[in-house]
Amino acid sequence: MVRKFHAYRWDEVPVLVYKEEADTTFRDVSRQVLFEGTEDIPCQWRYFEVAAGGCSSLERHEHTHHVMIFRGAGTCLVGTEVTPIERGDLVTIESGEWHQFRANRGEALGFLCLVNVRRDRPQTPTAKDYDALCRRPAVRRFLEESNEK
Ligand code: MN
Repeated sequence: MVRKFHAYRWDEVPVLVYKEEADTTFRDVSRQVLFEGTEDIPCQWRYFEVAAGGCSSLERHEHTHHVMIFRGAGTCLVGTEVTPIERGDLVTIESGEWHQFRANRGEALGFLCLVNVRRDRPQTPTAKDYDALCRRPAVRRFLEESNEK
């Protein structure tokens, strides 16, 4: 089976809302499930796209993400590191690491994200977690910028 690619969409792959959960830490993100998990390969492979100026959730969870930047450029927070990212870069988010992707460089940021089918629900930060993250100046700048607008 082949699904053709056109303008960051794929034949027969619906564009979905990013999350069903109430969560105020993301903005302007869409989700497409490219491959559903099977017994043979119990992983889901998704494409997320953050519109220019938007951001994914600030969250953590026990499961791991493997991410490949597929469109544009932006910045990510992984653990306590803030890093510029561009198309082709690979990002691993280990268990328990806080993470967020931001399209803060004047263009959309699209990324492929691989996860296990069996995974725990993300947590968003408590006020205490947020304060702890903000102890690093680079992280504080990143988070404060993502809260503007
Ligand atoms: Mn996540």
